[in-house]
Amino acid sequence: MERARPEDWYRLQTKGDGVTLIDEPFIHAFYRCNVWHVRGRDRDMLVDSGMGVVSLRDWVPLVTERALTAVASHTHFDHIGCHHEFDDRCVHRAEADILAHPTRAATLAEPYVTDEIFDLLPPLPYQSATYAVKAAPATRLLEDGDVVDLGDRRFEVIHTPGHSPGGIALWEAATGILFSGDIVYDGPLIEDTYHSDAGDYHRSMVRLHDLPVRVVHGGHFPSYDGARHRAIIRAWLDEKERR
Ligand SMILES: [Zn+2]
Ligand SMILES: [Zn+2]
Repeated sequence: MERARPEDWYRLQTKGDGVTLIDEPFIHAFYRCNVWHVRGRDRDMLVDSGMGVVSLRDWVPLVTERALTAVASHTHFDHIGCHHEFDDRCVHRAEADILAHPTRAATLAEPYVTDEIFDLLPPLPYQSATYAVKAAPATRLLEDGDVVDLGDRRFEVIHTPGHSPGGIALWEAATGILFSGDIVYDGPLIEDTYHSDAGDYHRSMVRLHDLPVRVVHGGHFPSYDGARHRAIIRAWLDEKERR
């Protein structure tokens, strides 16, 4: 398989409200993480950082323009690969160990990362067999109810375990924006990883259903509005109740 050029690896799309989507188009859609950049008055926020196979700092000038807080929605390989490039790193307490010691098994690189997940391989020296996320110990541990403050914008941490134990969503009440991570997005949800929990998943979905969201920016797949948010979760809850 051919390799991509580093300058082509990332794609940027502005989404309004100072939010920019950064993603990696040569990774198949199912594995392609949405990296969210949020402009604030005093500092910017990055929600997740992609696979880490090409430097975000070197190839996406947007992430170096201002002071920046890099938050991890959770610690699967597709979400935390470039966290080591930023000095201000936040993760929920329950996944702090994985961000500090991101083994291939703990981050799910094993078994998911193979050449088959790409249309074009990342630039050399990337090799799927030895790919691993670099350690990036958190500088701040998050809990439910904590706030990531950008000066003029406040994002409340909502602990959403289920997909993984330290999953979080970030909620900006003033704008109705929710960054949901992998607990809910508009595509096939993953409920059966080694550290998934069905009871937690259900409780997290019930809690998110009742938020008055205007727009959801998820960990994968396209963003959607509040009506779609409630429809996705309602259908998921109904399906569980039928079993
Ligand atoms: Zn995940
Ligand atoms: Zn993911």
